Amino acid sequence: MENEASVLTDQFGRKHDYLRISLTERCNLRCFYCMPENGIQLKENAEYMTKSEVVSIAKTFVNLGVKKIRLTGGEPLVRKDASEIIEELAALPIELAITTNGILLDKFLDQFKRLNITAINVSLDTLNETKFNNITRRNYFEKVRSNIKLFLNNGFKLKINAVLIKGVNDDELIDFVEFTKDKEIDYRFIEFMPFNGNKWDWSKGLSLHEINTKISSVYGASVMKLQDGKNDTAKSFKIENYKGTFSIISSITNPFCDSCNRIRLTADGQLKNCLFSNSESNLLKSFRNGDSLEAIILDSILNKKKIRGGMNSHSDILNAKNIDWKRSMVSIGG
Ligand code: SAM
Ligand code: SF4
Repeated sequence: MENEASVLTDQFGRKHDYLRISLTERCNLRCFYCMPENGIQLKENAEYMTKSEVVSIAKTFVNLGVKKIRLTGGEPLVRKDASEIIEELAALPIELAITTNGILLDKFLDQFKRLNITAINVSLDTLNETKFNNITRRNYFEKVRSNIKLFLNNGFKLKINAVLIKGVNDDELIDFVEFTKDKEIDYRFIEFMPFNGNKWDWSKGLSLHEINTKISSVYGASVMKLQDGKNDTAKSFKIENYKGTFSIISSITNPFCDSCNRIRLTADGQLKNCLFSNSESNLLKSFRNGDSLEAIILDSILNKKKIRGGMNSHSDILNAKNIDWKRSMVSIGG
């Protein structure tokens, strides 16, 4: 039963009602900031959640008060039974959302319309085809652009994600803002985060402050701050009279941990209470043993650290390049 008392609350009073489920560690792109150059070692098929396990474990979370589920990955839409999983999860009393690289979106248009799935985030780190091929190590630029157009033409309001990295796409910041001029999109600029195999160093990242300064220097008083939602990770803005908006997600320089309501389930059934946590709880193993998952979930939530998995200060985060990260982003589910 969904009620206030059953919401998963941690020792800092944060209520966790938003679950992100990774459907797969596989991906049809190889973005350098997410996936190590040689890919990742995939596990045996039996080590990943089946469709019915995804749905059953998701139901346990819904019974504990989860109100929103976002499907992610890897690329969630490359999973062969993605459409069946979406169908079953959409029948739960939750908001169902998805983060995708957009390559396969056209195949899901009718289903998303029918199920009223509107919270769709598409990654597009550049508006330049050659750069796209370099960043993703694949050449699907036109496909992603045409699918974004298709969804916009069908009345979807998309969020577009870009990880900003110096010398890679920071020179496109104003082009991204201009992209919001006549489109119902929210372009979201994400600070580069450290994970296994992505050669992270904060000197490559573009900070909230740098992004704001650069945009203000071009648009001045036309930059309008928008009201952010209670649990929003993003700080939102728009340019006066532009149709779309833009947002900045500043996990590195200005974390939003105080209002965090997110937990994550990896494709191999591990519960992660924080994106930056290196520890996990094996829900899939317990599920297969027929054990109750509730105690494990509650214990994980209670052990959630206050800030960024225990990286409390800016010097802790700068040191993150020396951490032996257990997973790449592609195997966590961003
Ligand atoms: N394949 C889908 C996609 O690309 O949207 C979903 C999975 S992807 C891991 C989810 C989000 O994580 C993407 O928007 C991606 O840009 C972001 N991401 C991946 N690695 C990141 C990193 N090192 N720092 C910041 N964001 C990252
Ligand atoms: Fe794949 Fe998304 Fe990671 Fe790119 S960001 S490699 S599309 S999972």
